Amino acid sequence: MKYELPKLNYSYDVLEPYIDKETMEIHHSKHHQAYTDNFNKVLELHPELADLSVEKLLADVNNLEIEEKDRNAIRNHGGGYLNHKLFWEIMDPANTRNEALVADLERDFGSVDAFKEKFTDAAKTQFGSGWAWLVRNPEGKLEVYSMPNQDNPLQKGHTPILLLDVWEHAYYLKYQNRRPEYIENWWKVIKLI
Ligand code: MN
Repeated sequence: MKYELPKLNYSYDVLEPYIDKETMEIHHSKHHQAYTDNFNKVLELHPELADLSVEKLLADVNNLEIEEKDRNAIRNHGGGYLNHKLFWEIMDPANTRNEALVADLERDFGSVDAFKEKFTDAAKTQFGSGWAWLVRNPEGKLEVYSMPNQDNPLQKGHTPILLLDVWEHAYYLKYQNRRPEYIENWWKVIKLI
């Protein structure tokens, strides 16, 4: 199967002023498109993987019996494809507060604010490119950490819940080197908690 760039359910300018229209447009139509195209390219080399979902491919990426460069391409571009798809979904302005998630955050972190502080710290301290993640582990408990590049928690058997892109391409046009300001403002577009 061939992956297509996931459509946004909202316009590029709707997250203004926190995330600017130009960044959204380039991030979605150029960066996400490139991950999608490069993911398709590596899959074309491996028709034996065609029936596996992107989630399954990422979960098993370290065990795939293919050349290392192709495993890396699946990790980087398959991860880039899926991570951005999830990122657009969790920033959808039509989202509403998820009471079950809020209850789990309170259970596992003490409060939503304590969770936000931990997640913000993970996002700020990720060295170089990567993502901050809120995940559910196999025991059902929530965890926060960052991962480099386009790595995805599925590689650890964890289920992604919330994620924040801290690659410079996600904020540089508006915020330049001010990653902490981008992170603080990003919370304002999140309606789920
Ligand atoms: Mn990105």
